[in-house]
Amino acid sequence: MFFFEPHIHIASRTTDDLERLAECGCVAVGEPAFWAGFDRRSPESFYDYFRQLTEWEPKRAAWYGIRHYVWIGINAKEAEDVGLAREVIALLPEFLDKPEVLGVGEIGLNKNTANEMITLGLLVDLALSRGESMLFHTPHLEHKHLGTGMIIELLRGDRRVDRSRVCIDHCEEHTIRRVLNEGYWAGITLYPTTKATPKRAADMIEIYGPERILVNSSADWGPSDPLAVPKFLQVMRRRGHPESLLKKLVYDNPLEFFNQSRGFTFTP
Ligand SMILES: [Zn+2]
Repeated sequence: MFFFEPHIHIASRTTDDLERLAECGCVAVGEPAFWAGFDRRSPESFYDYFRQLTEWEPKRAAWYGIRHYVWIGINAKEAEDVGLAREVIALLPEFLDKPEVLGVGEIGLNKNTANEMITLGLLVDLALSRGESMLFHTPHLEHKHLGTGMIIELLRGDRRVDRSRVCIDHCEEHTIRRVLNEGYWAGITLYPTTKATPKRAADMIEIYGPERILVNSSADWGPSDPLAVPKFLQVMRRRGHPESLLKKLVYDNPLEFFNQSRGFTFTP
């Protein structure tokens, strides 16, 4: 089955991973800007990373017939230094104007601090002033429930928000209901250490249905599995779900969400 991988950090993965993704049926990926695992020290460092995402990674993916789309932003892990964040935010419009850029992401919260909220407010304002779609990272483990609520409250306070153009990612059992009820897209991340597993993702879909759900691996430089989406499909098949439901989850849904972005030029 053809599928989209809507959230993966290709810059951290090898060409072996791209080859295996293509062999499993992956036709397109979404790559959000992310933390490098260590803090970048200057705006120039971010600038070069954004160039990597928009200029080089699409070429590597194309070697394997995979279309590559990008989200540009500052990850919550690097949002604490508001001064640096302001300098980086000033660089973003140049990249948001590039082809195959889907919008502002992944942005959000990590430890739910006051400074993270200031940076997030600036990023959301930039996105809304330009009519961009947004992709939100929600915090890990004990910070997730509170942080997801803080993001929802921030968005509720701004009348410009079109909830159908916002994905709140890394939802788990204790956050997905609220995200869906509020009218947002909900990302479910299949991750070996935290977040969800393929079986837990299947459980959530059996409870809440397939509408406005995006399933992804968020595979990055740490322990993670770039083939998590095809493994999720196997779990769904073993449970007897029809191919039409599987296709909706991993192909039709990401196509519908991405199609709202100016930079999305995919032809099925
Ligand atoms: Zn990510």
